[in-house]
Amino acid sequence: MDKSIRRILLVEDEKAIREAVEAYLVREDYSVTAVADGQQALAEFAEGDYALIVLDLMLPKISGEKVCQVVRDVSDIPIIMLTAKGGIEDRIVGLELGADDYLIKPFSPRELVARVRALLRRARAEEKLYGERIEFDDLIIDIPSRQVAAKGQLLDLTTSEFKLLVTLGRYPGQVYTRSELVEKVLGYDFEGYERTIDSHVKNLRSKLGDDPRNPRWLFTVHGVGYRFGDQAERR
Ligand code: CA
Repeated sequence: MDKSIRRILLVEDEKAIREAVEAYLVREDYSVTAVADGQQALAEFAEGDYALIVLDLMLPKISGEKVCQVVRDVSDIPIIMLTAKGGIEDRIVGLELGADDYLIKPFSPRELVARVRALLRRARAEEKLYGERIEFDDLIIDIPSRQVAAKGQLLDLTTSEFKLLVTLGRYPGQVYTRSELVEKVLGYDFEGYERTIDSHVKNLRSKLGDDPRNPRWLFTVHGVGYRFGDQAERR
């Protein structure tokens, strides 16, 4: 088995928490690199081949928010955010930045281990599912390299736009509700996020050059959600 699938980067400035979490993860046979600030976190992330990041929100030097943003720009690696604050705002910030899950302090290390395991399982399942290339006429979605080309032009898509396109494009004609898309694309379920799917669709349409009144790829199913054009012939 590839060893990197069990490598975890743990970023936490509170020594007691860092050591407790590290001990639990090591006991479960994960290989852990523990660092205490955001700067070290980014340096380690750039160096190592990690499978998952456990990231504290409030960190010295570079904040957890910033670390999360920088990592998300280049990677889909699962991130679990640790936050001392339990307010809904903080949860939204973490999840909007692209964290996959969050835990509010104080949390039980056992709970963290369970979340780590679940996220890694999901990431592996997605990898299997997404290890392919989808082609429709002049639209090419290369999943491993995360590249999308339309009419011969490479498109600059965000992580969410890419996931949305892959989710819909894998099953042309299948209708997805907004909440299903929230779950698949953003990885969590929260009513308030359903409208963010609309804005991702809008941006994706504009990048694909798809006219919402006469779409070729992304169809609105009124009162329900979205589907990929079932006329699209998959190659
Ligand atoms: Ca902290």
